[in-house]
Amino acid sequence: MHINFIFNAYVTLFIYLEKRMVMCIEESDIAVIGAGPAGLIAAREASLRGAEVSVFEEHNEIGLPCHCAGLISIKGLHDIGIPLHGAYVQNKIRGACFYSPSNLSFTIEGNDYVAYVVNRRALDCFLAEQALKSGSRIILNSRVQSVKRNGGWVLNINGRDNFKAKLLIDAEGALPRVLKATGLKILDKKDFLNGLQIDISGVKIDPERVEVHLGRGVAPGFFAWVIPLNDEEARVGLACKNSNLKNLLFSFIKKRFRYFERMSMHSFYSGFIITCGPIEKTYSDGLIVVGDAAGQVKPISGGGVVFGGICASIAGRVASEAIKRNRLEEKFLKTYENEWKAKFGKEFKIALLARNILNRLSDRDIDKIFSIVIKEKIHNEISAEGDVDFQGTSIWKIMGKGRFLRFLPTLLKATLVFS
Ligand SMILES: Cc1cc2nc3c(=O)[nH]c(=O)nc-3n(C[C@H](O)[C@H](O)[C@H](O)COP(=O)(O)OP(=O)(O)OC[C@H]3O[C@@H](n4cnc5c(N)ncnc54)[C@H](O)[C@@H]3O)c2cc1C
Repeated sequence: MHINFIFNAYVTLFIYLEKRMVMCIEESDIAVIGAGPAGLIAAREASLRGAEVSVFEEHNEIGLPCHCAGLISIKGLHDIGIPLHGAYVQNKIRGACFYSPSNLSFTIEGNDYVAYVVNRRALDCFLAEQALKSGSRIILNSRVQSVKRNGGWVLNINGRDNFKAKLLIDAEGALPRVLKATGLKILDKKDFLNGLQIDISGVKIDPERVEVHLGRGVAPGFFAWVIPLNDEEARVGLACKNSNLKNLLFSFIKKRFRYFERMSMHSFYSGFIITCGPIEKTYSDGLIVVGDAAGQVKPISGGGVVFGGICASIAGRVASEAIKRNRLEEKFLKTYENEWKAKFGKEFKIALLARNILNRLSDRDIDKIFSIVIKEKIHNEISAEGDVDFQGTSIWKIMGKGRFLRFLPTLLKATLVFS
């Protein structure tokens, strides 16, 4: 089926639902703020278990504006309940080629495909369909402007106090304005990276390998990526604290693809990339926080769909249980945080440490680390044993095999010089 047809069908359906909702629904067990992947997955899981769920989305379409490269591990897709054959799949990826500032490179890849490139708009629409099928309601064009605790919650939507819910799931994304007012500590915007990305065509690339380019001249404190959509189209982007992202991106594209004039450029995407780890507390009385709003994003790569999605599944389960047992107090909702921390707590700690060290490496340090990896063929071990999602734990495991001392001088120097 043509993808535009699918979008139009969804949009018509949502607008119909929205009109119906505004007319007749004023309360539900659970209100979810935000119809991104985290909100939709939490809604799906809670309504599958019998809770009445309403999802509020400020935009009039699901999945727009898009701010994602769409690179998601196959295992991750499976873990968040997404079939591997949907219209959202754009390409299949076997591995990644890493490039140092002086162009040393190594490749990490498995025997089989490890990740898919997806169209995020289409993926979000699919998740919305799953949530609707499981019984959730999705209300578009509805911005939750504030919430008041009044036994349960009263939500102010588009300027009117017109919705009540027993439990709130905040899935507002990187800038959670409503959450800020509930008293839970949110992430500090100054810790975010700015990301910018563009789809280009008319290039020659390896269709099955993502490229990761490191270096202060390319993307200080992060990296630039080339994600192939096929052998002549790619999603190219970078992130860093630098405000002059557009110049950095164009000079990277010019350097990487010398035949700049022959390319055509399409959609621009931008957004905040979170690499600073989760917020201190992700629950309070009648409230659960999920996804980017909770900082559930991989600190090394900035990917948030899988970790945020898995945490959102846990949130949906715990929320429905809370409704069933009428246990809306924070003592019960803490189960949510206990569960996601049992799964990701250690990974976040190691990955944050790795991210802090990476942020401090000079171009010479990065080159040195690349030459050790290449000389000792460490990339082959990572290929065999690494995990695309648990990046921190994988690095830790490989470093632990008597290798740590080889890297220690470079890591120590980086830590001391920049601290
Ligand atoms: C350039 C870039 C590239 C990325 N690439 C990848 C990648 O390749 N792979 C990956 O896994 N991750 C990637 N990410 C990260 C990923 O996009 C996010 O982690 C993910 O979208 C988070 O999902 P979410 O549901 O928490 O938030 P969002 O997707 O931001 O969804 C939040 C939703 O809430 C709505 N909303 C907010 N406030 C309100 C309100 N008050 N009332 C009603 N609605 C509201 C918003 O409109 C939005 O629809 C990338 C990010 C950027 C910026």
